[in-house]
Amino acid sequence: MIIVKTKNEVLALSRQARNIRKSVGFVPTMGALHYGHISLIEASKKSNGFTICSIFVNPTQFNNPDDFAKYPITIEKDINMLEAAGCDVLFFPTVNEMYPSGDEVAFYELGYLDTILEGKFRPGHYQGVCRIVDKLLLATEPDNLYLGQKDFQQCMVIKKMIEIKQHKTKVVICETIREQDGLAMSSRNMRLNEQERSLSLAISQALLHIKLAYGAQSPEALIASANDLLEQNGFKTDYISISDANTLEPITSWNKDQKAVALIAAFMNDVRLIDNMILN
Ligand code: AMP
Repeated sequence: MIIVKTKNEVLALSRQARNIRKSVGFVPTMGALHYGHISLIEASKKSNGFTICSIFVNPTQFNNPDDFAKYPITIEKDINMLEAAGCDVLFFPTVNEMYPSGDEVAFYELGYLDTILEGKFRPGHYQGVCRIVDKLLLATEPDNLYLGQKDFQQCMVIKKMIEIKQHKTKVVICETIREQDGLAMSSRNMRLNEQERSLSLAISQALLHIKLAYGAQSPEALIASANDLLEQNGFKTDYISISDANTLEPITSWNKDQKAVALIAAFMNDVRLIDNMILN
């Protein structure tokens, strides 16, 4: 695997691959890799002749400085995992490479998506996500971009940014990879102690409870019981939402023809976890 730190180098490698008719798959990450990330590399390798992964803990998407400061960094292990997965290039830039001084702050018209759920609870977060992914797409010019359903709203936001900026990249969304007991894999799980880790199972259990009872009970009742389950396990809930899977508008009454998703964000002490599940 080739490791490069500059946009020019990664762009040259991407174009070289294209010149020999290899399609380019790209997997952006913030590192502290787990099998969820590797599943995206595997998906890219299946459909592309050349796979680029980036590791960059993007400061502009952290609305909470403490969360940024405590974000896990495990670069040596990450490199080994990417090598083992057969990734072709790791793009590992510095903050200055991505945000040189005087860098213009772009604004992305995300509309409703920027005002709800993650957008509401993490002001500025999606502007930061768009800013970095926009730059990464310019630097890698991929045919295909691999994202995890784990960040459901982020997938919608990035699709919208791609539309706004007319990038030619196609978005491929991959299923959420879970630990054996159901907890969605996340870099932030590394920050949980043993007790917190076992209590954190409540998120996927709450989602499963909503999924199993969806249609039999009102969305309002399901959200209330999911919230009880989270609180009993020591979580402080930011939101629980049952939403239209295409628009993220809240669903107030069940309709079997409407594709629905349940989304949760909650704090286990100072670690904020998110997860979601398609309901039908
Ligand atoms: P992150 O490093 O957390 O910014 O995530 C990088 C990419 O990996 C994003 O597209 C995430 O949605 C995806 N991802 C994170 N966790 C998982 C998971 N458990 N399963 C599948 N994809 C994931």
